[in-house]
Amino acid sequence: MPIQCDYHMHTPLCKHATGPMEDYVQHGIELGLREIGFADHNPLPNRLSNNVRMEEAELDYYVERVTELRFRYRGKIDVMLGLEMDYIEGLEDYLGRQLAKYPWDYVIGSIHFLDNACREPSWPRKYAGDGHALYARYFERMQQLARSGLCDIIAHFDVAKRSGHLPGESEAEDVTATLQEIKTAGICMEINTSGYRHSELPDPQPYPMLSIVEQALTLGIPLTVNSDAHAPDQVGFKFREMETFLKRKTCGQLAKFDQRKRTMYAL
Ligand SMILES: [Zn+2]
Ligand SMILES: [Zn+2]
Repeated sequence: MPIQCDYHMHTPLCKHATGPMEDYVQHGIELGLREIGFADHNPLPNRLSNNVRMEEAELDYYVERVTELRFRYRGKIDVMLGLEMDYIEGLEDYLGRQLAKYPWDYVIGSIHFLDNACREPSWPRKYAGDGHALYARYFERMQQLARSGLCDIIAHFDVAKRSGHLPGESEAEDVTATLQEIKTAGICMEINTSGYRHSELPDPQPYPMLSIVEQALTLGIPLTVNSDAHAPDQVGFKFREMETFLKRKTCGQLAKFDQRKRTMYAL
């Protein structure tokens, strides 16, 4: 069976994605997907980084729009309600309240902030030349996220490589410890194909890089493949390649979600 679900769609509400939501859904139908899930960037308190995410006042509208699309496309494709939640240490209560308000099908947890003021684009500046320190902090945050119980799916595991540093030998221990934490937490990890689109990466691969996907498979961490589409034609991006890779690695199943319950389907 092919990959059936793409759970990581953005919408123009986040101000850096383009195209009407319907076009994402229609593209998913054309590709033969069974499920397509929106997971736009969540609002944060005090309008923190609101230039790349929806406003708090827009969250109701977002949920309504996804629900409306689910109804309109029923029988053709299942439109799922998700959220990409930025984890920030100290905001657990705020995030917990935000999640409790709506009937999410799944929550994708991301690390874009190493602390309140240090968002992803500023990482290279802050950690100039010290990739090891950057990864140490980054993976510490990801382990906190895994333990927090707030999310169902860990987003783009090694996105810190956008800083220009690839995780190497000296990060191996942190990578293994973080995967172990995800396994212990009993949550899922995405293979995020947007890495193939990010031409600034020294070695374009998905997030996480394929050698880390293999490690996750060995540990038995449930996986899902997501495109992180910020435009309709990015839906299902590189899914064929991922399917071939996973089957070669004898990965027999992938995760799907409904009302925050995970089941597995055969690949
Ligand atoms: Zn985005
Ligand atoms: Zn992200």
